[in-house]
Amino acid sequence: MIGFDEYIDKFNKCVDKYIPPINTWTPADEALYKPKDLFRIPLKEAEQLQFKAVKFAFNQHYANNKFYQGFCKENNVSPDDIKASDDLVKIPLIPDGFFKDYPHGKEFATWLGNILTGDLPKIEIKQHIPTYDQVIDAFNKAGMLVSYSSGTGGRHTFIPRDQRTFFASEYAIAKSAVTMLYPFWEHDSSGYLLMPNPKKTNIYAGKVCLVYFDAIQNVNVAIDREITTELIQMMMSGGRGLKGRLIKLFSRRASRQMVDDIIKWLEYHDKTNEKITFVGAPYILYFVMEKLKAQGRSFDFGERCGVATGGGWKIHENVRLSVADFRKEVKDVLGIPEKYCLDVYGMVEGNGWMVQCPEGHYLHVPYSYYKPIVLDDEFEQVGYGESGRFAFLDSVASSYPGFITTGDRVKLLEHCPVCDRPGPVLEPEVKRVAGAEMRGCAEEMRSMMTRDIGR
Ligand SMILES: [Zn+2]
Repeated sequence: MIGFDEYIDKFNKCVDKYIPPINTWTPADEALYKPKDLFRIPLKEAEQLQFKAVKFAFNQHYANNKFYQGFCKENNVSPDDIKASDDLVKIPLIPDGFFKDYPHGKEFATWLGNILTGDLPKIEIKQHIPTYDQVIDAFNKAGMLVSYSSGTGGRHTFIPRDQRTFFASEYAIAKSAVTMLYPFWEHDSSGYLLMPNPKKTNIYAGKVCLVYFDAIQNVNVAIDREITTELIQMMMSGGRGLKGRLIKLFSRRASRQMVDDIIKWLEYHDKTNEKITFVGAPYILYFVMEKLKAQGRSFDFGERCGVATGGGWKIHENVRLSVADFRKEVKDVLGIPEKYCLDVYGMVEGNGWMVQCPEGHYLHVPYSYYKPIVLDDEFEQVGYGESGRFAFLDSVASSYPGFITTGDRVKLLEHCPVCDRPGPVLEPEVKRVAGAEMRGCAEEMRSMMTRDIGR
């Protein structure tokens, strides 16, 4: 079996373009790119890396982001207050709702510009009253990678990443998954991306998967049409008028076609010896398995197939699939061992990716560059083992302050109850805080598809 160091060196070669030149590394880069295994750094060492990285990021945003500096002043916190690891929790956290509270038209561009840390690129918007998509396109033409996620309530969460931050996020998700799947990953393999085509959407969960095309040789894409905020809005609002009806009709056919295409791909690979992977939204694979079960069929791919899921666990409106049930079904219907079926938890606002360990399926935190925090209802920090609202200090977000509270309810444990990796873990079932709307990058896609495919 290949040694871990050699394995990760091979991976790093495939994603070379994502890693900035060493002579430009900041303490945040050091904490992400240097450790070979982000989940096996001795605690003391990781804490030092984390402190340096987060403090560096806080100084940068305080100095170069007027909006965030004002927010810190209101909270009476400045870089001088952050002297040791224990002080990191004093860093003011931006509520996730802030990123959903945006104006439209040209003011939306100004709003996005205000979140940015550092210089605003030169943006050209030709339209008198631009749509959200047109504003995003203008930013992205200027070299940014603005992406979004949304709740079913119709409000999107927009995050302005620059190229460096985006590369860091892509590198982090791929490295984290490849690490946990050791020794499974191989570049010469085929994969199916269960997400919108990253080249045709600015939905973050799709976009961040661009790295999949560098990590392995052949990638098929489940959702290949262009997905815009306008299309999402039209489908979510019930699609009034002829245009809406046509889109719906198209979507129903496309959803069924998607499931059939994936089954054909499975049949093809049943006869090859290649390693294959599925990456993306679990509900798509769920519908594939439902169809196979209805036909009384199953496959036996064994250890040459891996599955990495992310983006929400709702299957039908009020039905939530449990992560463990899904894993069992993947084993029964596709013959893939549970140790190679791992869930990833992350979000559009952050660049930290919690990945399940193969032994116990707890979500391990990449704690050298990303500090997890759990808050009670009064937004005070609670200790390990208590449930509460998830928040994080993300040091690799350089184009916006990555110090954010979320609407997700989690339980953070000091150590994994099953495996021997050091560092904190989240319990696998992450839910929404009561009252917070459903969201997740895959949520609007799922909602469209289940409406179409259930009939
Ligand atoms: Zn574990």
